[in-house]
Amino acid sequence: MTTMKAAFLHGIGDLRLEEIPVPQIAAPDEILVRVKAVGICGSDIHFFEDGRIGTYVVKKPIILGHELAAEVLEVGPEAADLKPGDRVALEPGVPCRKCSFCKSGRYNLCATVPFMDTPPTDGAFREYLTWPADFAFRLPDSASWEEGAMIEPLAVGVQACQRAGVTGGDTVAVLGCGPIGLTALQAAAGFGAMKTIATDVMPFRLNLAKELGAAVVVNAAQADPVQAVLDATRGEGVDVALETAGTERTVRQACAMVRRGGVVVLVGMHTQDEFAIPVMDVICREYDLRGVFRYCNAFGPAIAMLAANRVRLKPLMTHVFPLEQINAAFDVVRKQKDRSIKVQVRP
Ligand SMILES: [Zn+2]
Ligand SMILES: [Zn+2]
Repeated sequence: MTTMKAAFLHGIGDLRLEEIPVPQIAAPDEILVRVKAVGICGSDIHFFEDGRIGTYVVKKPIILGHELAAEVLEVGPEAADLKPGDRVALEPGVPCRKCSFCKSGRYNLCATVPFMDTPPTDGAFREYLTWPADFAFRLPDSASWEEGAMIEPLAVGVQACQRAGVTGGDTVAVLGCGPIGLTALQAAAGFGAMKTIATDVMPFRLNLAKELGAAVVVNAAQADPVQAVLDATRGEGVDVALETAGTERTVRQACAMVRRGGVVVLVGMHTQDEFAIPVMDVICREYDLRGVFRYCNAFGPAIAMLAANRVRLKPLMTHVFPLEQINAAFDVVRKQKDRSIKVQVRP
């Protein structure tokens, strides 16, 4: 093999398959992998529709995709303990490993993290790629390639719980039942939450939340989710509210449904940079507002949860397309939110 197929985003709405050379291992700690399954993320859709996310702008053709499982083909001489044939999930951001943030363990806050499919770093909608071995995590034998490609979104759910400090006995509300909400819901149970409450406006997604273990589901189009949470918690509110929908309305709901001294974690991405928050309420009820940016040290726990059957990822995978049909796959994510959760492509 000398060439491979890769899907390049040339500009807004312009995604094309091209034939490019297969990459070669360039550093002793790298591995060459064959990509087996890649999920389409909301961020891929933002780049496809707007050509940018915040300050990250698509200036030259870029390969999107950062949620992947792959088979190891070749390993460099310093590629840790990996060997050809290993099945791995790749963590898509590689920090500098040297700054104070990296050394303290919060490497997602490193100032220089080349991240797959964030300009100018290419992503995974292609057949082969090279990557540092210490950001490849071996998958359990029982996991399918599709489940392996769900480790990245599950890692976001894990990070949300790590940031919230979810612990045994907690009651946790998850606002928004998209791919991240539904992984966060299950991660919370994995961290010991005793009761989870899920809110959304789509019955299809609420049914999935119920199937995946939510004790209470609230259709926010029909009932007030804050009142429903208070009713389900003897008027106290939840210990933790994980906001994954990325709207002003759901952020305000999360603030109103958290108990005194609880934690609100902002996971969902917003289209507006600023809006008003109930600042006196934050002060007087002394709850914490915490952000989540990607993840750190979350792939290990995510894979452990999958290996121990503490999470179910298969029900989230609603569509799979061959790489050649990537445009059809993007169409499903953009236009069929009431019927799809995670759409993947297989090179
Ligand atoms: Zn993602
Ligand atoms: Zn760093």
